[in-house]
Amino acid sequence: NRIEEKLYQNRYMVDAGRPHIKVREHAVPSEALKSLVTTCPAGCYSENEQGKVEIVADGCMECGTCRVVCAETGEIEWNYPRGGYGVLFKFG
Ligand code: SF4
Repeated sequence: NRIEEKLYQNRYMVDAGRPHIKVREHAVPSEALKSLVTTCPAGCYSENEQGKVEIVADGCMECGTCRVVCAETGEIEWNYPRGGYGVLFKFG
């Protein structure tokens, strides 16, 4: 898959212990939050055994999808990574 090959060329700097996106504690995830399990292009979201949605932000491409999708539900805390961390896109 050509896109995956391109994505593989990006580099990701993990800011250990300081994830830039967090899912707020919730009893039941909204449909919007649940949809991210399949729509996040980096596959950062997953559903755990309790039916709650979790995120591992490593590899996040900062596309902003989850930020937009959950803007109204307020279930996500979203910040850009600190300088020097996060995705480093390679162009060309
Ligand atoms: Fe996934 Fe995009 Fe959200 Fe990053 S910003 S976690 S890539 S949906």
